[in-house]
Amino acid sequence: MNELNLPHGTVKLPAFFPDGTRGVVRCVDTADLEACGVKGIVMNAYHLMTKPGAATIKALGGLHAFTGWKNPIVTDSGGFQVFSLLRENSSMGEIRPNEIIFRKDGKKTVLSPEKCIQSQLAYGSDIVMSLDYCTHPDDPPARQAEAVATTIRWGKKCAETFKTLKKNDSLLFGIIQGGNEKLLRKECADALISMGFSGFGFGGWPLDSQGRLTEEILAYTAELMPENGVKYAMGVGRPENIVACAHMGYNLFDCVIPTREARHNRLYVFNDEFENTRNIDLRGNFYRYHYILDDEHRRDSRPVSCVCDCHTCKNYSRAYLRHLASIGDSLSSRLATIHNLRFYTILMEKLQSKPRSAWHGEFA
Ligand SMILES: [Zn+2]
Repeated sequence: MNELNLPHGTVKLPAFFPDGTRGVVRCVDTADLEACGVKGIVMNAYHLMTKPGAATIKALGGLHAFTGWKNPIVTDSGGFQVFSLLRENSSMGEIRPNEIIFRKDGKKTVLSPEKCIQSQLAYGSDIVMSLDYCTHPDDPPARQAEAVATTIRWGKKCAETFKTLKKNDSLLFGIIQGGNEKLLRKECADALISMGFSGFGFGGWPLDSQGRLTEEILAYTAELMPENGVKYAMGVGRPENIVACAHMGYNLFDCVIPTREARHNRLYVFNDEFENTRNIDLRGNFYRYHYILDDEHRRDSRPVSCVCDCHTCKNYSRAYLRHLASIGDSLSSRLATIHNLRFYTILMEKLQSKPRSAWHGEFA
């Protein structure tokens, strides 16, 4: 699958969508995003439900009108966010058979499969994600089995609600859970595929306790997903992990990494061969980052990357970026975010430039 047609535009695959969890990709605006070559954003249904509220967004004409972003929007259902918040503090809520209850700042939010779909359709999302029960790969088998049974039950309700309420060509994706258990992944995939979802996400935490990509289960799950469809590696975002998952067949990615790293003054650059020839070999270590506060940048008049065509590299030196970061000016975060997002879109353009069967590492 080379392209994905959505109500707000066509997206070349594989694609990386940055996270704009609360309706904004932090520190940049929509014009910055478009100039970086970003084709879509992933926002979060649950967070938007708590602030400013699904009814408010609907009254303002949906997420596109509200945020000014004219291109595709994916809304994550909130299953993952609730999982991570409850994992940190179990008193914040509970997962019941038909819904998730979440308590924060004295406010109770109920997330049911039906409500999850209703709100995402009210937002006008291009891709609506089904509500799932998310687990960690280290969770015990009984929890993984319960998560799969719940994800299948909720998936059915999501598919029915979506079919009844949808008005345009938005797509509904299912999320395959099952932790590291192949049998559970297969059970979940088979059940969701029979419900007619348009695409599938790899659910759960994609990294092990040492922070390494769980390659075997990711590859196995990619094979379970229909060929010629969207295979979404949710939350996969380190450049080397995107390349590894793209080799497995995944073609949609999202992560906070490029924008978060930018706010922590880490600017990604491809290795020297790319700087000299624009060729990159995506095998092995193909990139590094400049920590812009390092003293070596104090009098460096070069851009972050000599071949990057982003607004930051075209207009500003490493020395000026270092100065902005050292005085804590917010422009520093914006310029760093712009550069890192362009690094990611260049990486995706390289991956898009050849069919997967022709990938042997080198990209001109
Ligand atoms: Zn740049």
